[in-house]
Amino acid sequence: MSACEAGEFGRNVFNEMTMRECLPKNVFKSLKKTLDGEQPLDPVTADVIANAMKDWAIAKGATHFCHWFQPMTGLTAEKHDAFISPRADGRTIMEFSGKELIRGEPDASSFPSGSLRATFEARGYTAWDCTSPVFVKEDGKNTTLYIPCAFCSYTGEALDKKTPLLRSMDALSKQAIRVLRALGDMTATRVTATMGPEQEYFLIDQAFYAKRLDLLLTGRTLFGAKPPRGQELEDHYFGSLHERVATFMSELNRELWKLGVTAKTQHNEVAPAQYELAPVFSTINVAADHNQLTMDTLQKVARRHGFVCLLHEKPFAGVNGSGKHNNWSMCTDTGLNLLDPGETPHDNMVFLVMLCAVVQAVDKYAKVLRASVANAGNEHRLGANEAPPAIVSVFLGEQLTDIFEQLAKGGAKNSKKGGQLKLGSSILPPLPKDSTDRNRTSPFAFTGNKFEFRMVGSSQSISGPSFVLNTIVADTLSDIADVLEKADDPKAAAQKILQDIATKHARIVYNGDNYTEEWVAEAARRGLPNIRSTYEAVMAFPTPEHVALFTKHGVLSQGEMLARTEILLEGYSKQINIEAQTMLNMAKRQILPACCEFAGKLGQSVTAVSGAGVSAEPQKKLLKKVSDLIAAMETKIEALEKAVAKAAGMHGAEKHAQSYHDDVLPAMAALRQTADELETLVEAKLWPLPTYAEMLFMK
Ligand code: ADP
Ligand code: MG
Repeated sequence: MSACEAGEFGRNVFNEMTMRECLPKNVFKSLKKTLDGEQPLDPVTADVIANAMKDWAIAKGATHFCHWFQPMTGLTAEKHDAFISPRADGRTIMEFSGKELIRGEPDASSFPSGSLRATFEARGYTAWDCTSPVFVKEDGKNTTLYIPCAFCSYTGEALDKKTPLLRSMDALSKQAIRVLRALGDMTATRVTATMGPEQEYFLIDQAFYAKRLDLLLTGRTLFGAKPPRGQELEDHYFGSLHERVATFMSELNRELWKLGVTAKTQHNEVAPAQYELAPVFSTINVAADHNQLTMDTLQKVARRHGFVCLLHEKPFAGVNGSGKHNNWSMCTDTGLNLLDPGETPHDNMVFLVMLCAVVQAVDKYAKVLRASVANAGNEHRLGANEAPPAIVSVFLGEQLTDIFEQLAKGGAKNSKKGGQLKLGSSILPPLPKDSTDRNRTSPFAFTGNKFEFRMVGSSQSISGPSFVLNTIVADTLSDIADVLEKADDPKAAAQKILQDIATKHARIVYNGDNYTEEWVAEAARRGLPNIRSTYEAVMAFPTPEHVALFTKHGVLSQGEMLARTEILLEGYSKQINIEAQTMLNMAKRQILPACCEFAGKLGQSVTAVSGAGVSAEPQKKLLKKVSDLIAAMETKIEALEKAVAKAAGMHGAEKHAQSYHDDVLPAMAALRQTADELETLVEAKLWPLPTYAEMLFMK
């Protein structure tokens, strides 16, 4: 069957259409009200829904259900329960109640809680997010009903990535509706944040992966000399798909479509062995769930094809790293995309207010945005000679920058037009030309009718950056609504607000090349923060100003923010610690022995060659070089061991993370440099690790 045939897409999803078919009319109506945020789900309705879900899932082969949630690890968690329920008379029936659907009670003690919970305070709850459809997932021979959930502690604090996202959606909707009302929109009742996350990843052959302890334990290569060829030929991006990869992608799409994930775009990315997948955008919490499913499915399907999918932000030094491009906008329940400029943006007041609200939010809260993408992997991308930089700025493009400048002068009178492109051949059609060019280097770019936040790491849950974006925009919209609601003439008041924003926040707008040194200097002159290390980025999260922001909008309490800060810092330290320990292990047990063996061979060669009465000077020279590097490696191993011991001995999450950054990372880089140099000298047959050339180019 062709996967595009109707019926294949969403086959394993208990979506609205299926519910309409399976549920009694009144129950469906009642659920619909809950989905629209009008009323909570009552227990009787929940029982009927649960029963229908169970029957539907069993017909698909499911034996179990699970509450599927997103703890602070950034991954997903699931505990499966069978539907079976033994009766007193010895029979066993298949049962699933409304209570089981709505609430789960997993042990919360083994998930990161950032000191919110002591280990003995174990109770946690999962709660059904009914706006993200339940689905059946097939893993091998196991088929299970998955129920997307939020996860909180016994005391009600969020212990997951989803809860703040859902809270931020409410906050954004509330403030956006206030602004729309003040500007005369009397029909919209809810505004939803929309998200389309583009996902980058690498595929390498499983056989190579199995021989690399670093990939196995840390997801990235900790050693590896630069191959003779990297990405300089610029021939991989959008290149013809390798057949094995194309077959993988085809199966990946089918699996995702079954789960209701709208996988749409696929192509080769910039680095060799790097690829990208993008879905069609959806409501932001559903997009977050689907992105988790995408990452999971990528890894599982890759295995079936003898590949391993690497989601790390920087699996290979010297070639492009992987990120996510989070395309974000806001849409009313009446179907209006609030970031759609229309034909004449200069007189589209709703659009201008929304646009300026985003610009102001990004400038005012650049540090929170930066914190939301801070992790050990992303540190290799942001600000480290790679896209995008660690400096947050906004690309508006020619047309909107022009309007923005007009606004600063008191009001926008016209919009630049795109026109037509003629390509100079009689057979090629004239092309409608966009009013604005693209800018691939900007961390936060306006792209037609949405913003694209490009700093997000490829392995990250998109929930963190998403709830931050929702909240900071909710906050600026709230300030705007405060003024508009009190104004006698809201339109005039709005003009004044736009002028203020265009004047005060012009510094965040940058349309040039974000990768250049000139921009770094220019950004410093403009007073824009340039935060390169993870611990500095994370420490900027729980400042009093930001606590006020998140508590005002009911997204996170101070306690929850401090917990998250601790989890992020400790996560960073743990990650670097594992990397350092893995390096030491590989250096001592794989690389040094191979180098010593090679040195031994050279020594024998020196004896044999000079014994034969020929000069062994070249062999001696090489032996000396190799022996010196072996000695240097020994010294650097010791230095790394000392650095790790120092970092491990630090007290407090911040000091801990800082020492891993300041002491351990440089020691790791030094050790790698020597080992990589040895790789270029030691006989290929003796080298114990698959090389960059093999991993990146052999399929
Ligand atoms: P690009 O502009 O990056 O070339 P696309 O038009 O393919 O690419 O969009 C990239 C992503 O942005 C896709 O996932 C797409 O669904 C998503 N997208 C498009 N419109 C919106 C929107 N209004 N809100 C959120 N995401 C959107
Ligand atoms: Mg894009």
